[in-house]
Amino acid sequence: MLSLAEAQAAIRARIQPATRTEVLALARAHGRYAAVVLHACVDNPAFDNSAMDGYALNSRDLITYGLVLPVTGESSCGSAPQTLTPGTAMRIFTGAPLPAGADTIVMQEDVVHEGGGMRFPAEATPGPHVRRRGEDFRAGELLYEPGRRLSAYDLALLSTAGVAQIPVAVRPRVLVVATGDELVAPGQELKPGQIYESNRLSTLLQLEALGADAVDGGTVRDDPAALRALLKSAGDYDFIITSGGASVGDHDLVKQVFAEIGEISFWKAKIKPGKPVAFGRIGQRAHFFALPGNPVSSLVTFKLFVEPALYAWHHSKPPVLELPAIAANSFQRQPGRMEFLRARLYSEHGELKAECLKGQGSHMLGTLRHTNGFIRLDEDDDGFAPGARVTVLPLF
Ligand code: AMP
Ligand code: MG
Repeated sequence: MLSLAEAQAAIRARIQPATRTEVLALARAHGRYAAVVLHACVDNPAFDNSAMDGYALNSRDLITYGLVLPVTGESSCGSAPQTLTPGTAMRIFTGAPLPAGADTIVMQEDVVHEGGGMRFPAEATPGPHVRRRGEDFRAGELLYEPGRRLSAYDLALLSTAGVAQIPVAVRPRVLVVATGDELVAPGQELKPGQIYESNRLSTLLQLEALGADAVDGGTVRDDPAALRALLKSAGDYDFIITSGGASVGDHDLVKQVFAEIGEISFWKAKIKPGKPVAFGRIGQRAHFFALPGNPVSSLVTFKLFVEPALYAWHHSKPPVLELPAIAANSFQRQPGRMEFLRARLYSEHGELKAECLKGQGSHMLGTLRHTNGFIRLDEDDDGFAPGARVTVLPLF
């Protein structure tokens, strides 16, 4: 059985990354992955300008002409100002260009009317309140490497940098299928032995949140012929993700049929929840994941395997944040597998605390109401006492 790190490395090694790209306007590129290096087209700021509403002047004039200067002209946003007349100040507004000849901005709150002009403070010096051309970034500067998943922050920066369109990887097409004779959709009445299905929905939604083109393949019965037909038709997808049927029971046929039709890279990882997870490929193109049926195992294995696989497909790595925290309660267990405990993370007296939630069974979704992160236990870890240092992974 592979460790988590080994299984993730196996996935990274076998993913065949995206090859097709499309060019999108910024407004359509949110959540997509840059396919090329992105450079700034302009300096930011594009020109020296004022950070305040106030007055532009030359600080040496306060020595030459005294602290009271007449005000001539105005620099406002969107146009080029006249050159500053020596011995005068110019009215200026936030974001407006610093006129040639000026080196100093005095904010209007620090100025008083006197005679026909304004009295400026003797300590006014060049520097403060002046935004210098290129102090943020320069034209031609590398902003993003390929694989960057573009957030609203990134797109704001790219827009400022004058980038109008971005080549991104075409979205991966991902087929999502639930398997199990017991599964029905909410809205229908439950007959004896049936349960409401949840994994397909959570998988589809998480895929969409990762920028994939997720296709709902419905629910397939625990029937080898039906599973064979499904997998044979799945070769044109970039990924196929099933839930259920990946374990060792007589009706756990998914992994068997995968082994028959595709090529399995690994089956089972030393993690809890989520041990019975299989990864491999069908044909030349489709990567598959057979995720476990237990709903919490399905969520955790999605996070640990599918998410990194989608990033790898985009020549990228997922952002992973691991933090030290203090255990708020205790948890004991037999060492062996790396374990992800649903936890409530909170801060108390300036410290990050982690409460291990009651109800860790992999069928127990009720715990998710309070879950905002995981406590990670290493394979040889036997648990923790209140006050112990633990490693946590916050969920966003
Ligand atoms: P399996 O991996 O097929 O043996 O399923 C393990 C457990 O997860 C069983 O209790 C199933 O009823 C349950 N299960 C399987 N698939 C789903 C699903 N799509 N939604 C909710 N529960 C499921
Ligand atoms: Mg099943």
